[in-house]
Amino acid sequence: MGMENSISIDGSQLWSDLMETARFGATARGGLHRLALGADDLKVREWFASTCRALGCEVIHDSMGNQFARRPGTQPGLKPIMIGSHLDTQPTGGRFDGILGVLGGVAVLRALENGKVQTRHPIEVVNWTNEEGARFTPPMLASGVFAGVFTEEYARSRPDRDNITLGDALTQGGQAGTQPCGEHPAAAYFELHIEQGPVLEAEEKTIGVVQGIQGMRWYEVRVMGRDSHAGTTPMTMRADAMWAAARMIDAVHGVAMSHKDGLGTVGIVDCQPASSNVIPGNVMFTVDLRNPSDTVLEAMEQDFRARIAALAEDCGVEAVVSPVWNSAAVHFDPTCIACVREAAEEERYSMRDIVSGAGHDAAYMAQVAPTAMVFVPCLNGISHNEAESAEPTDATAGANVLLHAVMLADTRIDAA
Ligand SMILES: [Zn+2]
Repeated sequence: MGMENSISIDGSQLWSDLMETARFGATARGGLHRLALGADDLKVREWFASTCRALGCEVIHDSMGNQFARRPGTQPGLKPIMIGSHLDTQPTGGRFDGILGVLGGVAVLRALENGKVQTRHPIEVVNWTNEEGARFTPPMLASGVFAGVFTEEYARSRPDRDNITLGDALTQGGQAGTQPCGEHPAAAYFELHIEQGPVLEAEEKTIGVVQGIQGMRWYEVRVMGRDSHAGTTPMTMRADAMWAAARMIDAVHGVAMSHKDGLGTVGIVDCQPASSNVIPGNVMFTVDLRNPSDTVLEAMEQDFRARIAALAEDCGVEAVVSPVWNSAAVHFDPTCIACVREAAEEERYSMRDIVSGAGHDAAYMAQVAPTAMVFVPCLNGISHNEAESAEPTDATAGANVLLHAVMLADTRIDAA
């Protein structure tokens, strides 16, 4: 045990891997354009496979193109402990979102190999196909198939903008393996990721011990008034859908502010007939409500619906609220969370508990295996942007926590 605990990540090798793979899809402004299963994604996939083979791993692809690099364990019959994330990016993405999680996993394999550590469980690093949803919607498509959230038929039929389906892209790129996606049980799953938000940086904490992923609900609100002349209709005789919508949008902010940890966003507003001198008769806007607690999120929805109804009446318009999408809060596994926390303590990193504001492959993996995540800070909290940046010391710290969390899990999960 003593020897095993003394091993650590080779931070400079991890950083050089990050910079080397950032050549595949590099943009002029220092970011990445590496859409799922495009030419540059195929190159980084080959890099991942050959690097892991050189570390003594067997690399297989499942039928959704998910890549698994396996380092054998000592105890027969145990399922693998998985480490994973994604190597695809947004069209103008950064060099760390997803990539740190996969290359951090490679760094763990390297540390185990160099330290001659034998684990009871096989350790596998997985690169999930099409996490971003930038080429094929929705996001997290292949981990979703893996977890049984989507059928493989549905996933393979998803088209990109040129009407190439994900299924065709898998075949053309030679990425579809023979193992049916999902027939690959895991003992546990760990994912290292940049926070993609500003909290760790603002509080000068190195490690986020991720408790889960907040719940999200999307709606469309249709406000129906009456088109009429801007110059001839007295203020008291209008049914102004835009005025009503403006007050409702303000109410969305109010709902978020009056519930603990609540978030509320209006991202799209569409107005008809959209003419300078016509009072709008129809306005549609979208609402995104989020909360780490499904109970509070439900209360936010009730509050939101009540405020919309009251404002519609007050403004003399009609309003219809339609749910568009609903994603329940994810609570990670207490044993896996404890492994992350104790690993960060062992390594003496500053830390705090945190809830993920964004979706991750770990959200779906949590449905089929005990799961936890590790966050590290990113510069100014910026992500899905070419300016996305992380410090080498933080990348190393995150991978070190991943390494030691996996080693702790190896002793605790399926312990006889
Ligand atoms: Zn990501």
